[in-house]
Amino acid sequence: MGYEKNQIITAKIVDMTSEGEGIGKVEGYPFFIKDAVIGDIVQLRVTKVKKNYAYGRLEKVVTPSPFRVDPYCPFHKQCGGCQIQAMSYERQLQFKESKVRNNLIRIGGFTPEKLDQMMEPIVGMEEPFHYRNKAQYPVGTDREGNPVVGFYAGRTHSIIANTNCILGAAENQEILESILAYMKENHVPAYDEATGKGLIRHILIRKGFQSGELMVCLVLNWKGKSGAKEYLPEQKKLISELAALKNMTSVSISINTENTNVIMGKEVHTLWGKDTIEDTIDIRDAEKDFAPLGRGVTFAISPLSFYQVNPAQTEKLYSLALSYAGLTGREKVWDLYCGIGTISLFLARDAKQVYGVEIVPQAIEDARRNAWRNGIENVEFFVGKAEEVLPEKYEKEEIAADVIVVDPPRKGCDQACLETMLKMAPERIVYVSCDSATLARDLRVLCDGGYKVKKVRAVDMFPQTVHVEVIIMMQYCGKEKN
Ligand code: SAH
Repeated sequence: MGYEKNQIITAKIVDMTSEGEGIGKVEGYPFFIKDAVIGDIVQLRVTKVKKNYAYGRLEKVVTPSPFRVDPYCPFHKQCGGCQIQAMSYERQLQFKESKVRNNLIRIGGFTPEKLDQMMEPIVGMEEPFHYRNKAQYPVGTDREGNPVVGFYAGRTHSIIANTNCILGAAENQEILESILAYMKENHVPAYDEATGKGLIRHILIRKGFQSGELMVCLVLNWKGKSGAKEYLPEQKKLISELAALKNMTSVSISINTENTNVIMGKEVHTLWGKDTIEDTIDIRDAEKDFAPLGRGVTFAISPLSFYQVNPAQTEKLYSLALSYAGLTGREKVWDLYCGIGTISLFLARDAKQVYGVEIVPQAIEDARRNAWRNGIENVEFFVGKAEEVLPEKYEKEEIAADVIVVDPPRKGCDQACLETMLKMAPERIVYVSCDSATLARDLRVLCDGGYKVKKVRAVDMFPQTVHVEVIIMMQYCGKEKN
């Protein structure tokens, strides 16, 4: 049966795509509908018809799904950052778990029965809001000429005013309001992407959840001389207002004059307070419901540092990594794609020696500083690509590995990296992944090379969104078939 654009159709939502769209079916023909929740009966307007499927816009929820909840954020549909906020948190967790499971079956070739044995229940959050320790708000000008901060609507670059994103820290609002008031009072222009004129582009706020320390960095389109002391009109007024806020620790600016989507500039100048804020990630007992073990690792975070955005769940994920690594104090451990060394420093406490590899030189500088700061001496960090550093160290220096931990970006591990891992044949491999599809692909290679997956566990690092992190543990079993 042919469908036409703008036709109104009633459909039951029977499934969800991995991007969180509802899938409605009419006589077996699928419709993809944003903002529809599994279990809803909806009225949709057809927006685009393809041969085997069509897209529709949600017009009305006729019968709400038992999993539908009232979203907290009035902007959730326009913003698109929280794709599944209209779904109960419990159902979100189930959605994520089955996303991981389906990829492992479809791409990894694991049987459902095997997965039942290996998979442990997903690790969710008790309070799945206000979890982010970092927020980057774009600054613009509204129709009346007033400065606004908020978020980009959908995939556009027009800013919808909102100083109160429910994923961020509660303090963000007060900080943003105070910068807006300063801009208005002193006629400080927001940056305009179309003309390249104006001054303030973005506001970055970071919070150390354990220390309570707050950091603000204003990203400026500043074209004055380098080495200046005044980057903003009435700079002192702004500083004294921000410095008066509770727990404010660092106020800085970053210079970015390029016509680019990259938010931060390379240069950062501290205007007031410290250059960095501090935060601690506690080590927890993954086998005892993540009870704190009374030890942790402390980090210094600058406006440009990479740092995990959900510290509460990071503690659980890395504690799982530590538990899966099964260290006794005698092991040599590699931590590939190590970033600022967060996992490496966790592992170091229980390993003989840890080697970290990371492509971004500044991250390695941070990693070394963090090791020093925590008095950890049995770690060594290398700058470079994992797929180049690992073979080189293994072949030239014959450095061994008892355990290898990898935490690659979305595209997964490079083939050369996987091949070297197989040659090194560590007893265990721990794979932390933010994309279960590339994880499943890489697991195939490792299983064909003699490894067996023993444990799989999803961790919800980004509640309200479709993203899900997974951690798996593999053991070397020789070349027998698995
Ligand atoms: N485990 C770290 C960060 C993981 S994010 C933490 O939790 O803090 C993935 C990291 O891989 C990023 O820091 C990125 O810069 C790095 N990376 C990307 N490609 C790489 C490659 N080919 N070799 C080594 N590191 C790489």
